[in-house]
Amino acid sequence: MSHTDKLGNFTPEDAPDYGDVLQCMRCGFCLPTCPTFALTGRERSSPRGRVALARAVAEQKLEFTESVREEAFFCLDCRACTTACPSGVRAGEVMEICRSQAHQFFPLKHVGKTFRAFVLQKMLTNPDLLETSMLPARLYQKLGIQWLVRHSQLLKLGPEWVAKAEGMMPELHPPLRPQLPEVVPAVGEQRGRVAFFLGCIMTLMYPEVSRQTVRVLTHQGFEVVTPKEQKCCGAPHLTEGDRCTTRSLAHHNLDLFMALEVDAIVTDCAGCGAALKEYEELLEEAGEHAKLAAFKAKIKDVSEFLAEQGLRLEGLRPVDKVVTYHEPCHLCHAQGVSRQPRDLIQAIPGVDYRELNEASWCCGSAATFSLKYTGESQQILDRKLENVMATGAELLVTANPGCHLQLAWGLKRVGMPQQVVHITELLGMATPD
Ligand code: SF4
Ligand code: SF4
Repeated sequence: MSHTDKLGNFTPEDAPDYGDVLQCMRCGFCLPTCPTFALTGRERSSPRGRVALARAVAEQKLEFTESVREEAFFCLDCRACTTACPSGVRAGEVMEICRSQAHQFFPLKHVGKTFRAFVLQKMLTNPDLLETSMLPARLYQKLGIQWLVRHSQLLKLGPEWVAKAEGMMPELHPPLRPQLPEVVPAVGEQRGRVAFFLGCIMTLMYPEVSRQTVRVLTHQGFEVVTPKEQKCCGAPHLTEGDRCTTRSLAHHNLDLFMALEVDAIVTDCAGCGAALKEYEELLEEAGEHAKLAAFKAKIKDVSEFLAEQGLRLEGLRPVDKVVTYHEPCHLCHAQGVSRQPRDLIQAIPGVDYRELNEASWCCGSAATFSLKYTGESQQILDRKLENVMATGAELLVTANPGCHLQLAWGLKRVGMPQQVVHITELLGMATPD
């Protein structure tokens, strides 16, 4: 179905695929995997219930009501239900599309509408502007205002999400994109040439992680090309129901990266990787099928890539740490990359690996879910932290900036000693200078 075909009570622009909702046979296999169903016990907040809502709108048995809107945004889009579903129903993606519908049925008013358009269409599409916008936050930290705010009662006076957003902010450093050389040569014998897709949150919040990603890749024998003109992958726009801007970003990144002669396009952000692999579906009407398929085949999460190529072990230093691994939903459920990070972690000499119970259960971050539904996000996170505690690990490895922010904030809040590290930071500890 085209993204402008009319389906029942949906608007023609970006309606879900009727075939997708018809596939649900109501077996309920997905129910135990859904964090929002576990929290509420409510059928409508389960994958099966959400698909039934979408089907009722498609079959004109229900208008696109406020309840449908609520469920579209209350879904974490964690895709755990897709992994569990024997019929291949993609309830998370159906809800993601319903968010776009929600903005058509319930458009924001005045300031909210202008602000949303500015963030999604101006700031996130312009890397220079996005990087400049972080300057006040860096000054806030550097000038000691953050210290004053945190030691006052100020944050208790505002809405809960503001306190949480402030508390989640890591120590900020200048963004990595302008600092990274366009080409970093391989160290030792060259095994290949890769492009690096540097996600917005990684360059702004975790520049050191991506610096380690490039360092690890080059030490593993790969020349790394990082095109400066790259833009946001469009994942935040999908999350917020702006599929049109995602398509325009997708065209830009597709043309830019496909003009490079590289073996793979590597990312260290699970959310970006999942969005990039979805370009083929998003742009299916553009008609560039061969190019889109070739692009998708080249997109690799860094752990997927290194596991495929085989980790070069000679010279690696031991990392004598007890380590566990939290699986980002957009890596294990959306991309099916689950075994590879564990294999890499366990290949590092000295590592004492402990498997995390419910490793692929969402951490409650889910883009803006953690700020929109602070209470529910906290409950989901508490379950994760209990499992982390039981491992006795010193390092909690993950592979997505959203999970990183949420887990680091949660550990600090309850006074747990574990340090959150990205998988390339762990590999970086083992990589010689
Ligand atoms: S979404 Fe899949 S697992 Fe869930 S009830 Fe429908 S068919 Fe069964
Ligand atoms: S994507 Fe996650 S939260 Fe949404 S319905 Fe599926 S399991 Fe539940």
